[in-house]
Amino acid sequence: MIKVSCLFCEQELSVSSRVRVGDLVSCGNCKTVFRVVWLYPLEIDWLDMNENPGDADAPQSADAGAEASDGILREEE
Ligand SMILES: [Zn+2]
Repeated sequence: MIKVSCLFCEQELSVSSRVRVGDLVSCGNCKTVFRVVWLYPLEIDWLDMNENPGDADAPQSADAGAEASDGILREEE
């Protein structure tokens, strides 16, 4: 087992020595879930809640592009 401190409550976490980068570990004390970002020494980081591949085509960018092209059309007329 590898010992690492929780980033939130600093509770010492015991992580499997077979853990890999990208694995998730949860603190038994505050229940916060972290992602393993480095090994030897083991480092954990906060989960990026914004990391959602489904949001790549956010409608906001499409709307911005439509407004820009509409403005260009008006200027041409
Ligand atoms: Zn904790």
